[in-house]
Amino acid sequence: MESILIVDDDVNLCTALKDELLEVGYDVDYVNSGDDAFQYLTGNEVDLLLLDLKMPGKDGFDVLKQFNDRRLKSKIIVLTAYADVKSAIDSAKMGASDFISKPYDFDELLITIRKVLQRDT
Ligand SMILES: [Mg+2]
Repeated sequence: MESILIVDDDVNLCTALKDELLEVGYDVDYVNSGDDAFQYLTGNEVDLLLLDLKMPGKDGFDVLKQFNDRRLKSKIIVLTAYADVKSAIDSAKMGASDFISKPYDFDELLITIRKVLQRDT
């Protein structure tokens, strides 16, 4: 079973999205901050991170940078209400595989998740 970690400060989004992803067969967990994400990843390997860009404290870009510094292997899809072209390009440059804007369409998100997890690199 492929594992997904949701990293978003919006608890309601995390619980709703976790339920939706569990229902289609993924192993899902969530954390509500960038620091918690790294704490989680110290003890757990995940196949995919769904990463919010806009969070208090360590934001999504900080997580991407720290993620690269530590050479972690999970794929990353950026998930944000701030879906502008610049954020998409910046997060792609920092290693994000794809980009989804909030409010997300679950079918679209699922297609993106499947596509990203099938890629080898
Ligand atoms: Mg947020």
